[in-house]
Amino acid sequence: MKIFLADKAGFCFGVKRAISTAFEAAAGGNVYCLGPLIHNPQEVERLSRAGVRTVEDFAALKSGDYLIIRSHGVPPRVLSQARDKGLNIIDLTCPFVGKAQRDAENLKKEGYQVIVIGEKKHPEVQSIVGYAGDNAVVVEKADDIDHLQFHNRLGIVAQTTQSYGNFSEIVLKLLRISKELKVFNTICNSTKERQDAARVLAGQVDIMLVVGGRNSANTGRLASVCRQEGKPTYHIEVADEMQAEWFKGVEKIGVTAGASTPDWVLESVLKKIQELGGKVDR
Ligand code: SF4
Repeated sequence: MKIFLADKAGFCFGVKRAISTAFEAAAGGNVYCLGPLIHNPQEVERLSRAGVRTVEDFAALKSGDYLIIRSHGVPPRVLSQARDKGLNIIDLTCPFVGKAQRDAENLKKEGYQVIVIGEKKHPEVQSIVGYAGDNAVVVEKADDIDHLQFHNRLGIVAQTTQSYGNFSEIVLKLLRISKELKVFNTICNSTKERQDAARVLAGQVDIMLVVGGRNSANTGRLASVCRQEGKPTYHIEVADEMQAEWFKGVEKIGVTAGASTPDWVLESVLKKIQELGGKVDR
């Protein structure tokens, strides 16, 4: 039983930067993160032990406390409220998310109705919508378009972790109903590279294991990409979730991990598969 690791898997640039800065900041004390820093409960727990406490809002914080803005960013209104309260902001908004926010803001200024392609409830989408104006609309899938009202001039940006397939399907459908369409492809390269590598690997193995937080959008999408390749796919957060029967009669196991999955979680999964008789092909 051989184990193959996807060419691109695990922490992306934005998450690496956020994690290392948060650990450095923790040493100073009174450090809070607005929402979990990344969508990986195990790493958030490690941060909490280092002194970075997760808060859902900053009402109880005091002037001078440190507030981390995670890589998903926040709407501008939230940033100004935090500054008005006298909090020291450590803004770890990923530069690629910042680009999507600026594109949305510029489209709004140019008079376009802004369409954000992404998941309505995802914090990154909510942060982008905060820059996109009152008539902005979030579209999750092409079918949503049939139930929404649109203007003639549409400006499009995407949640950075969208799949190209979903993004292009929605853009093509909007092209048919608009008079003018301006599109910013704000999907991040790290996302595309991980999805492409997962797709290629899924085509070469018997089963796929996708490692990462169940609340991680990009990890969930990696699992969808593998399933679309027709491969049995298991999305796990930690090694202990694996069951020996998944590997019965399996010769080749593919493993990938979301952009918010730490190396130590991935390594523990590889170790466990080796205990079950697998051999890593590095
Ligand atoms: S997936 Fe891309 S946009 Fe999101 S944090 Fe990582 S580098 Fe930034």
